[in-house]
Amino acid sequence: SVMAYDETNVFARILKGEIPCRKVHEDEHILAFHDINPQAPVHVLVIPKGAYTDWDDFAQRASEAEIARFIRGVAHVGRLLGVDEPGYRVMSNKGVNGGQEVPHLHVHLFAGRKLGRMVP
Ligand code: 5GP
Repeated sequence: SVMAYDETNVFARILKGEIPCRKVHEDEHILAFHDINPQAPVHVLVIPKGAYTDWDDFAQRASEAEIARFIRGVAHVGRLLGVDEPGYRVMSNKGVNGGQEVPHLHVHLFAGRKLGRMVP
């Protein structure tokens, strides 16, 4: 289902510069910043600048070029952070059962320690 995008969500406000964030990387298409409540030594959020509510909305409405840029951007951020080796985890929560709190597509990039198996 394609929900209407809420322009007032916290990541939309970060994109508009209304709320500060600790930036890791920004270009025309994506923004990466540290999570305010880190769950690992490195916990970065990567978001597309386009108004997409979640993973499914992005998959349905974004162009193939946007999708490719986003995935490449996430991997680029992993390299910028210097965590490509020994590695990291990428995760995106979608909807109520996924535990999504902010309705702007974001992926979490966790790194900096050996992560536990994520058993739901
Ligand atoms: P979700 O549960 O939607 O996948 O994840 C939302 C994430 O955004 C949470 O990990 C939360 O700590 C983070 N977050 C919420 N508000 C802010 C904020 O104002 N600034 C930053 N940097 N992170 C935030």
